[in-house]
Amino acid sequence: MTIGQRHLFCPGPTPIPEMVRRAMNVPAEDHRAPGFGDLGRDIAQGLRQIMRMEGGQMFLFPGSGTAAWEAAITNTLSPGDRVLMARHGHFSELWAQMAVRLGLDVELIDVAWGAGIPVKEIERRLGADKDDRIKAVFVTHNETATGVTSDVAAVRRALDMNFHDALLFVDGVSSIGSIEFRMADWGVDLAVTGSQKGLMCPAGVGILGVSDKAMEAAKHATMRRAYFEFADMVRLQADGHFPYTPPIPLLHGMRAAVDLLLAEGMDNVIARHARMAGGVRAAVQAWGLEMVAEHETLFSDTVTAIRTPMHIDAREVISIAHDELGASFGGGLGRLAGRVFRIGHLGWVNEGTLAGALSMAEMAMWRAGMDIELGAGLASAQRYWSDGKRRDRPRVVESTPIAAQ
Ligand SMILES: *Cc1c(COP(=O)(O)O)cnc(C)c1O
Repeated sequence: MTIGQRHLFCPGPTPIPEMVRRAMNVPAEDHRAPGFGDLGRDIAQGLRQIMRMEGGQMFLFPGSGTAAWEAAITNTLSPGDRVLMARHGHFSELWAQMAVRLGLDVELIDVAWGAGIPVKEIERRLGADKDDRIKAVFVTHNETATGVTSDVAAVRRALDMNFHDALLFVDGVSSIGSIEFRMADWGVDLAVTGSQKGLMCPAGVGILGVSDKAMEAAKHATMRRAYFEFADMVRLQADGHFPYTPPIPLLHGMRAAVDLLLAEGMDNVIARHARMAGGVRAAVQAWGLEMVAEHETLFSDTVTAIRTPMHIDAREVISIAHDELGASFGGGLGRLAGRVFRIGHLGWVNEGTLAGALSMAEMAMWRAGMDIELGAGLASAQRYWSDGKRRDRPRVVESTPIAAQ
């Protein structure tokens, strides 16, 4: 047993604000009662602002982000439809696997884990697709496994430049609510997220923003679906009621979390995440370690994946942090297992949270035998966060005892 607080420094689930936890402490409730509908409606309204969405439908499916992936596919596509996607990390790989399992004809572009989505290649394939066989392009906005953020707007431009009609699917599970996400401006047709990352709640709700174009596609899509049927869910937008029993306490938490984000203001939320990430990256640089992300333009502001030297198994660093320090870091996923550990910096986080994370990471790496100078990364982050914030004071040349003044 760990005495004192355990710390969660993984990129999801993320720390739950005290206010959100309290909001979830509710007695059982009748979800068919008049007035209950306000809850779902309030959340959907708030999420629209967070995603910068216009028109379309916002759905909250009991389930996780993965459920929302499935809902997006089964409602808008038909068996055998061709979809284009890049594979550049564990989550894009899993999404591709799901698409194959559901019977889609998946055209994959494999790039290095650590690269962003290959916009030029996507553009080329869309250009070559003269008879519009590609029905959808899937983009993992923020690859949580590699700490890479890709340019969704560039994919929209590639579609538009080719006058291509494919739907644009975006996995925003570790970006929405933390970094810039512009559903309307980017012409995203299906935006997927979950409740336990940027939205600071427990897992349990899969969130799906659906454009009018995707709602239209849903009328003709023939893939089988039942629980995740959009048509059954449309009432959520109208009167806030669910077709089945929703996770009620979690919804109360989500409303509180959405309120917190909107009270802070999305521009401030985005700026805070950029600032937090900058401190973490300053620390990684001071440690002399490599990030998985190949280039600084790809660095994610919500998660940093850090490579350990060849002779150090990252799993050992993670288990030391967990067992000896009560701190959880993210592990290397898929082919990065043992090579990488990840620090999440999204959601309810500030300098204090991350100073703790960096300090624990240093201790764990040092204890694992790595050549780390204790305090070096932390100091570097402290300097980054304090840059330009030092008060200007006249230099005191000679100090006079206060009593003598
Ligand atoms: C966490 C995550 C998922 C999976 O979401 P679950 O809620 O665990 O089902 C999918 N995509 C990305 C990018 C993620 O970070």
